[in-house]
Amino acid sequence: MRDRLRSSIEEIKRKGNYRSIRYVKPSGSRIIYEGKEFLNLCSNSYLSLHTHPEVVAAAKAAVDEYGAGTCSSRSISGSIELYRILEHEIATYKGYDKGLVFSTGYMGNMGVIATLPESGDVIFSDELNHSSLIDSIRLSRAKTVVYRHRDLNDLEEKIRKHPSRGDAFVITESVFSMDGDVAPLGDLMRLKKEHGFQLLLDDAHGTGVFGETGRGGAELFNLSGTMDVETATFGKSFGSFGAFALGDPLVIEYLVNRARTFMYTTALAPASLAASIAAVRLISDNLTFKKELWDNIDYIRKGLAKAGFDLKESVGPIVPIVVGHDDKAVKMQNILMGKGIFIQAVRPPTVPRGMSRLRLTVVRCLSKEEMDFALDQLILAGRELGIIS
Ligand code: PMP
Repeated sequence: MRDRLRSSIEEIKRKGNYRSIRYVKPSGSRIIYEGKEFLNLCSNSYLSLHTHPEVVAAAKAAVDEYGAGTCSSRSISGSIELYRILEHEIATYKGYDKGLVFSTGYMGNMGVIATLPESGDVIFSDELNHSSLIDSIRLSRAKTVVYRHRDLNDLEEKIRKHPSRGDAFVITESVFSMDGDVAPLGDLMRLKKEHGFQLLLDDAHGTGVFGETGRGGAELFNLSGTMDVETATFGKSFGSFGAFALGDPLVIEYLVNRARTFMYTTALAPASLAASIAAVRLISDNLTFKKELWDNIDYIRKGLAKAGFDLKESVGPIVPIVVGHDDKAVKMQNILMGKGIFIQAVRPPTVPRGMSRLRLTVVRCLSKEEMDFALDQLILAGRELGIIS
C-alpha cells in the first residue's frame, strides 16, 4: 500500500494540487499564520456571529452547566434539553414542522440521502453539488443521474429518460459553494408539481443570508418551509457547529430510526448547541446582521466588477474571481498572501479546467478600510497577471 500512496502523492504534487495542513489562529476579520497577520477572505462565518458576545456567552454557560462533551450518542444516552430547544427553534425559524440536529452538515446530508432514497429509486443531482451530497448519493442504493448545472431542460429530459420504479429525488444546493450562484428553485418547484419528485435542498450557504428575512435560498422564491427535506449546517452563518435536517414529522421520525449518521455518532458538545440556539435567536429578531453583510457584499462586488473581474453568475457572499489557468490562480493567491491577504485558489478537479479561480467570501465584520485594502490588492495582482487591464 505504501508504494501506492507515495506515487499518488507524487502525482498530486506534479499536478500542483498538493495540500498540507496550515495551523492558524483566526481572530475577527484577521487570521494569524506562521507568525504573520493576514486579512481573512475565506471565512464562511458570513454574519460574523462566531465571535458575537451573546453567542460566545451562551457557549460558555453551557460548558459550565453540562461540561465539555456529551460523550455518547443520542440514541444511547438521550438528548440534552438544548437539543429539544434547538430542533424546535430552527424548524420554526425555517418554516418547517420538525427539525433534527446532526453533528455536521456532511453527516446530515449523509443521514438524509443515504436513508430516504432506496433501491429502485432515481436520484437526479446537480453536477456542481457539494462533495457531502455526492458522497451521500454514492452511499444510497438508488440509481444516480447527474444533470447539467442549474439546467432544468437537461433535468427534465433526464427525468423522462430515466423513469423511476419507485420514487424520484432531485438534490440541489440553494447557493452553490464554489460558484456562489443560486439554484432556480421556483422552476424546480414547478417541475416537481409536474413530475412528482421529492425535492431535497442543501441550504448551507443560503441560510441567514438570502431571502427578505434571511431564512435562506427558498425564501428568495417565496418557498420557505416547502421542500420535502431541507438541510444546512450551523457552521457558516450561525457561527457555530453542527447541522440540521427539516421536514414533516414522519420524515424526521424515520430519520431518527434509520439514519446511521444520526444513530451511531457522539452527540454534539453542549457549547455548540447553545451557541447555535443563541445565533438562531439573534438572527430571528434582528435583520441588521444581514443588512450589514449585504452592504459589504455590494461594496466588494461593485469594486471587483468595475475593475473588470469575471465573477460568473454569483450573487451573494461567495465571490468566485475566475482567472483561467491553474497556474494563474496559484500565482494570484501567492501574490495576495505576500500582501497580507489570506485567500484560496480553487483549481481542477474542484472546478472545470480553464475555470480556476480565487474564492473570496465576504463577511459582515469586514471594515470599509479592510475592503478597500482587499480591492486595491486584488486589482494590482489582477493587472500584474494580465487578468484585468
Ligand atoms: N453542504 C455544503 C453545500 C457545504 O458547503 C458544506 C460545508 N463546506 C457542507 C454541506 C458540510 O457542512 P459541515 O461543514 O457542517 O460538515
